[in-house]
Amino acid sequence: MAKLEGKAALITGGAGGIGVATAETFLKEGASVSLVDLDQAALDEAQKSLQQYGKVITIKANVTDEEDVKRYVKETVDTLGSIDIFFNNAGIEGKVKPIVDQTLEDFNKVLNINVSGMFLGLKHVLPIMSKQESGSVINTSSVAGLMGTPGVAPYVTSKHAVIGLTKNAALEAASYNVRVNSIHPSPVNTRMMRSLEKGFNPEDAEQAKEDQEKQIPLGRYGESQDIANLVLFLASDDSSFISGSQYRIDGGMAAS
Ligand code: NAD
Repeated sequence: MAKLEGKAALITGGAGGIGVATAETFLKEGASVSLVDLDQAALDEAQKSLQQYGKVITIKANVTDEEDVKRYVKETVDTLGSIDIFFNNAGIEGKVKPIVDQTLEDFNKVLNINVSGMFLGLKHVLPIMSKQESGSVINTSSVAGLMGTPGVAPYVTSKHAVIGLTKNAALEAASYNVRVNSIHPSPVNTRMMRSLEKGFNPEDAEQAKEDQEKQIPLGRYGESQDIANLVLFLASDDSSFISGSQYRIDGGMAAS
């Protein structure tokens, strides 16, 4: 039996590595999917590769623009009928520099997308779920939400903030039977890590990747599918008694 039969899922950052893998997983489990992203070309490519698995719509929108957020929520409900699952996942990595060299502008940009964008998504999706008296929200944080990493203070700050937002949303939404959890991946093989590897070691990005992998007991990066499997669990009724929790998915890093 498919785990998401008849459900409608909204995914921000839906054209990125983790977003597309999760969309495919949701579709294969019987959901219809709405992908929201800034990148129209990537949305078109995602739609082409995913439509064989089920109903997919794409919406170009900026998660930091409240009018865009209202529009992506309305278009999703108008087209798919509801929002049963919200994967609040859009994010950027920012620049790799020590705090003393980061600019306020770059710091605020990361906070705006990774935190304010997530807040706006919650603000406009939760009323839909409240009316339905059901739903599951998964907010994407990172292991960087649980520990510091030199060079990426804006990202680390933003991903710590996701935990507070998640806990508050979980407490507020419990009264109308909606669950809210956060996920905390270690490095995952997507565009974002290619960019960070260059930032960590501009002369030798491949070396930066090896250095990162050495810190992961299982000896490899996560794949987007690894993350999608966890998101599926949190989206489905298999996790019906889980809310307000932080789910690490880190190849064993927590143990060291
Ligand atoms: P990605 O860069 O492939 O995907 C991110 C997507 O978000 C992109 O398609 C981008 O266009 C979109 N986006 C960025 N700003 C946006 C905005 N303002 N409005 C709408 N869309 C916007 O990276 P990914 O690895 O798939 O990242 C997804 C999430 O996972 C992010 O929140 C990231 O911080 C988190 N994460 C990634 C890793 C990793 O190693 N890749 C590890 C932990 C957490």
